[in-house]
Amino acid sequence: MSSAKMIQPDLDFVKEITAQGGGESLKKCFQCATCSVVCNLTHSDKPFPRKEMLWAQWGLKDRLMGDPDVWLCHQCSDCTAYCPRGAKPGEVLGAVRKMSIRANSWPGVLGGLVGSPAGLLPLFLLPVFIFGAIIMGLGRLDHLHGPIVYEKLMPIPAVDTVFILTALFACLSFFLGVTKFWKAMSDATGKTGAQGSVIPSIVETVKDIIAHKRFDKCDVAKGRASAHKFVFWGFAGLAVVTTVAIIYLYGFHWESPYDMKNPVKWLAFVSMLSLLYGIFSVIANRNANAEKAGKGGYFDWLFIYIIVGVALTGTLSWGIRLLDIAPLAYTIYFFHLVFIFCLFAYAPFSKMAHMVYRTTAMVFARHTGFDK
Ligand code: SF4
Ligand code: SF4
Repeated sequence: MSSAKMIQPDLDFVKEITAQGGGESLKKCFQCATCSVVCNLTHSDKPFPRKEMLWAQWGLKDRLMGDPDVWLCHQCSDCTAYCPRGAKPGEVLGAVRKMSIRANSWPGVLGGLVGSPAGLLPLFLLPVFIFGAIIMGLGRLDHLHGPIVYEKLMPIPAVDTVFILTALFACLSFFLGVTKFWKAMSDATGKTGAQGSVIPSIVETVKDIIAHKRFDKCDVAKGRASAHKFVFWGFAGLAVVTTVAIIYLYGFHWESPYDMKNPVKWLAFVSMLSLLYGIFSVIANRNANAEKAGKGGYFDWLFIYIIVGVALTGTLSWGIRLLDIAPLAYTIYFFHLVFIFCLFAYAPFSKMAHMVYRTTAMVFARHTGFDK
């Protein structure tokens, strides 16, 4: 005889989802399953996102927080476009992902600040204060005469110290968050994959991500995948540039600015253009498909605008230095540092965390056989 299983709904969780940008339409869902039928990424066994819509309506927080499918969704919005009730399942899953990032991130207070418009000003002022204090403390404003060299404003050891500490903080926060997330997925699915090495799953997942294999299966917002590729490759190029610059500086004592013939300079330029083109394509795509696919909430747009800030100030600080307009060039460079700080220090709490959490969920699904 089968025994009835009691479910314990968390009504506050339901209210929380519907209060998020993207989650407002949750209650319109009447469980027709069209979304699961049209989703090109779902598996045939226990397909998403219909079941997630039900769990969200019932307030089954633990299931959703440990559900790899929430992250295997790439927010292509095919389901949102076809939902006959306008329940926007792609957007609802986006709201659940935002809550998942906040639930797993450490320290939690930063998760709350990054997710709320009220946190914008203090989060932006923090790096302004840090870099401003370094400049004033070292009296760098008195060193700015002559040719434009950004090191005159902000010495490289000071920049390196701030960003190494920022990177260490972000890595620690991600490590704690991902560990908690992996445990939540194991508890919720009952799968651990404890028998074999996780390395092959990591390698295959990274290959998928580089090729954007899953994202390319989108139908409605196809441009979203190609725009994402430009952003991805822009970041990858800039990561190579940063690594080479560190080797130049600490291995060979070669300081920037580099000669125009140096390929690193051109890689930086092309990567920055790729980032700019990609992020403006993301914006155009979101606006063009807003009605069919949803436009995203504050959380999505904050991340987009931080990338715009990094790419624009990076390109302008390069161009205006060539035009030799010192006050403007130094000001833009200052804000370039501020935007880079925002991008990396707040990465574990912002939409950028999707890069790490989605990768973790993909590795988990492969390693444990969850998506079979
Ligand atoms: S979200 Fe829309 S398409 Fe999916 S089950 Fe609900 S009503 Fe149907
Ligand atoms: S947004 Fe795309 S990937 Fe996500 S559930 Fe909907 S159709 Fe599937």
